[in-house]
Amino acid sequence: MLRVTFLGTGGSLPTPERNPSAIMVNREGELMLFDCGEGTQQQMMRAKTGMKALSSIFITHFHADHILGIPGLIQTMSFHGRTEPLKIYGPHWVHEFAKILSALGYYKLRFEIDAIDLNPGDIIKRDEYSIMALKTEHSIPSLGYALIENERIGKFNRQKAIDLGVQPGPLFSKLHRGESVEVDGKLIHSKDVVGDGRPGRKIVYTGDTRPCKAILEASKDADLLIHDSTLASDQQEWAIESMHSTAQEAAALAKEANVLRLVLTHISSRYSDDASQLFEEAKDIFEKVVVAEDMMELDIPYKDKK
Ligand SMILES: [Zn+2]
Ligand SMILES: [Zn+2]
Repeated sequence: MLRVTFLGTGGSLPTPERNPSAIMVNREGELMLFDCGEGTQQQMMRAKTGMKALSSIFITHFHADHILGIPGLIQTMSFHGRTEPLKIYGPHWVHEFAKILSALGYYKLRFEIDAIDLNPGDIIKRDEYSIMALKTEHSIPSLGYALIENERIGKFNRQKAIDLGVQPGPLFSKLHRGESVEVDGKLIHSKDVVGDGRPGRKIVYTGDTRPCKAILEASKDADLLIHDSTLASDQQEWAIESMHSTAQEAAALAKEANVLRLVLTHISSRYSDDASQLFEEAKDIFEKVVVAEDMMELDIPYKDKK
């Protein structure tokens, strides 16, 4: 399973319709939170994402609308008896932030916070996927993130193996693992019966940014791009000044990167209840686009299973 739940889709200010930025990714039961604006824990409760399996929080930058939900969330998890450490990744200043978190108020967390600061280009390697930190262009130090799954082993052609004289059983597993086997003095190679490796899935999240090179490169053929889309095109100058993107700019980048799907987020409070202008402007450039809504859920299938 690879599920993305949009917990907060507003830009800078919370509104009655939209919480500040927070995106939950559930990958095979492991939860990862990308940004954690004010009120995120209640959004998690509403969306029933759970909290126990939260392994990591990835912060794009230290503007209040991306981090204020963390103090409340960690206290709740401590109250519920969490003892497993929580990893918090972010750009420079994440250690100072973690210190503030543990000094805040009269309480003692029952679990450790591992603060890890990242530079653009850093890669966190895990068993089945990696997270890459991307250089973004905002008014303070900032990062985007790409979640990139490892390539999966190719498909096993069962019939072809039988035709080559291999008996179903342990030899099948050997071949599928990439080993060669001998049958009646004849050597059969893995590549004879196992197809090419199949791509894993890729999700890119920009955080707050102008359209930029690192995002474009990381988004090449991505299954999902979640892009800053704070403003409409008539606010282009303000987008440049405040270092955000317009819906058109996000769409143009998605098109150039050939992504499968684009989600617009960080929607300015001025479009909070009606983001149709953003949607229409983006759709003229890139067809497969939606404007994120709080509580929206997307399941990301493998490309070869569509
Ligand atoms: Zn923001
Ligand atoms: Zn910001």
